[in-house]
Formats: sequence, structure tokens, C-alpha cells
Amino acid sequence: MNLLITNARLATENSPEFTPTDALISGGVIQQTGPGLTAPAGTTVIDAARRILMPGMFDAHVHFREPGFETKETIATGSEAAINGGITGVVMMPNTNPALDNPAVIAAVLASAARHARIPVFTSGCVTKGRAGKELAAIDGMRALGVRMLTDDGDTTHDPAVLFRAMQYANELGMFFASHCEVPELAGPRAINEGVMSYRLGIKGSPACAEEIIIDRDIRLAHAAGAHIHIQHVSSRLGMETIRWWKSRGDVRVTAEVSPHHLLFNEEDIGDYDTHYKMNPPLRTRADNEGLVQGLIDGVFDLIATDHAPHTPFEKSQDFVAAPNGITGLETALVSLYHHFVATGIFGWDLMVKRYAAEPRRLMGIPVPEIAPGHTADLILFDPEGSTTFTPEFMRSKAQNTPFLNQTLKGSIDLVILGSNILKSIF
Ligand SMILES: [Zn+2]
Repeated sequence: MNLLITNARLATENSPEFTPTDALISGGVIQQTGPGLTAPAGTTVIDAARRILMPGMFDAHVHFREPGFETKETIATGSEAAINGGITGVVMMPNTNPALDNPAVIAAVLASAARHARIPVFTSGCVTKGRAGKELAAIDGMRALGVRMLTDDGDTTHDPAVLFRAMQYANELGMFFASHCEVPELAGPRAINEGVMSYRLGIKGSPACAEEIIIDRDIRLAHAAGAHIHIQHVSSRLGMETIRWWKSRGDVRVTAEVSPHHLLFNEEDIGDYDTHYKMNPPLRTRADNEGLVQGLIDGVFDLIATDHAPHTPFEKSQDFVAAPNGITGLETALVSLYHHFVATGIFGWDLMVKRYAAEPRRLMGIPVPEIAPGHTADLILFDPEGSTTFTPEFMRSKAQNTPFLNQTLKGSIDLVILGSNILKSIF
């Protein structure tokens, strides 16, 4: 493939200003950048006019449901959903069936990804066997297969002594622990914030303190263990402020993520028991939304991650109490964040590239794509004047449990390239 992209505006994490540029790609590698490039014979030219050129995004928190729940999603369909959303790499969570807690099942998942995915698919591994919180999983064997992130995501690792030992062990192996924060006895079985909506709907809620207690406990354990901890999908403002305080001390390596739905929605959106707004941790209040956005801008949150959690229409059409927790996100994240935050001037493309392309890869210890000569092509073109309607036909995920279904938002992802492959193109 010889390709010349002309008239693009390059966005980077380092500057709020765009740089006008062309990019010549050959053999999957960027050969030249800069304005006014000429196309060698046999080169396909794409006029990017007004579009923004940037690295492919990377999502460090997705549920691809394979093995065990392939009716919801597979590695094949999940990775195509990622591409549709401008994402060129993901990290799977291990709450599959069987759980990803040993080298044999990790190897099977990586083999499936190699066969079925057009983007790199990384996987995390369980901290404890079967995510049961009792015995340590086969951590060293998983490390040998490249696993770096350990998590019992979906549940908190309940026993602090087990977790403390896991952190010490993981640290020696150059791994880190990612924490789903929730005191189960306080949270109860229902993913709805304890507040006005839980009272109105008559459902016992999960108070924000159920999350905040474990955020503090787990960072405190990492501090004592001298280990790196990553806090997943923070939903509460006070949880964010807890992370801010620990980061300000400078004596523990803590990173954190926030999900688009916790920035964009709050408990009032649940309205008349709409299960599209049921996820764990639950949507909280408008004040939490505002606090989380500020935390993203300030760098309390290093990265954005969707927690893409596909479910079947049947499951989500049950009543609010019975329906499973989760919202899809891979196909809607970039466009919805652009529509609500970048197009409205709340933050710029530099922050988006930093939080959704660069920092997630740094978390995983993999290189951040550069749009510069000599680098592998890993890039997207985004049209800020375009629009996207999230119809069932548009979606590549098996699941459509998103409140954005059939909505039209500003912005469109027009081109996705990884190496020699054009993964998505409207040209
Ligand atoms: Zn979780």
C-alpha cells in the first residue's frame, strides 16, 4: 500500500494547536510528513481536507466475553467495534468463563486474537483463582505470556492479605494491579447510586462510599507494598479527590481511569427504569460528573477507558433489578467525547490524544504511535464537521446496549490505518 494523505491537521498530546501536514505511507511505515508532499507514481491520494490526523486510540478496559459468553461478544466482533470507533488496541478483562486465571486459557485467548482480530488485543489476568478472592492465580505463568495487568475486575479482591501478597509478587514480576473498587456488603447486588433515583424507583442503592473506601484501601495497600496500582472506572467525585491526594504525596505509583459514561451521564438519566444506564459502578450525580471531568483535565485520571460491556437485547430488556450491569462504549467513545467536550470547548484534542491514545499505552508499557517518518502507521482521520448516527447497521459489536443507539452526534471517524492495512475508510 502506497498512500498519501493530504491537507490533514495533526493533533498531538503536546500542543493544543494543530499542525497542517500531509503524510506519505509506504509498506505500512510513515515515510514523510509535512506540507505539500508529492505522490510518487502508483500512490493513492486521500484528501483529508479539514480532518484531524492523530494516533489510533487505545482502550485499556474492555469485556470481549470470550471464552464463555460469545452470544454477547467475541474477540472478532469486539475488535471490529474498536476499529469502528477509531481504536487500534485494547486490553481484555478476565471475567470470562473460564476466567483468565492461568496460562492455558490466556494462551487460548491470545491465539484467538491472533486469528480473529485486526488490531493488537492484550489481556489482563486474574489476581485470584476463578476471581474468587482466595488463592493467588498462576501469576508467573501468565507473565511469561506477556500479561502485565492483574485484576479481578467485576469484583473487588476482598481479602486485603491476599491482595497485599499479590501486589508484592506482581511488583517483583514487573506487573501491576488494577482495582475494581466496591465493598460488596455496602454496594449490595444492584447497580444504582444510593440517592434520589434509588429512592424514587424503590431500589436499594449502592452508596458512593462503597467505592471510595476501596479506592483508599487499595492505594494504601500499594503504598505499603511498594507496588503500582491502577484504579478502574472511578464514578465518584470524592473517589477522584482521594486519588488526587494520594498522587500529591508522590510516594506511591497510582494511575487511574475514568469512563465516558461516568463523565456524560448521571443517575437522573435512568428516568423510567432505563437499563441502558445500569452499570457498575453506577451513575452518580451531576456534581460527580463535573468533578470527574475536572479530574480528567487535571490529570488525576491518566486515561479514558470505556469498560465496554456488551449484553444481549434479551438480558437488557429485563426489569432494572434483573438486567445485567454494563454499557458498550468502543464505537461511541471518541465521537461522544468530541461532541460533548471538545466541540463545546471544555477540553482540546491534545487532552483527548493524551488520555485516550498515549497514556493507556504507557500504562501497558507499549510504544505510543508517532505520526513521523520511520514509524509504523497507526493513525486515524476524524472529521469534526461530520456526524455519526449510531444505527444498528453502523454498529460492529454484537451488542447494542447503549443509550446512544440511533442518536446522531457531531464528528465521524473516516479512516483507520494500522501498518499496511486500511481497517476502516469512507474514502
Ligand atoms: Zn469493573
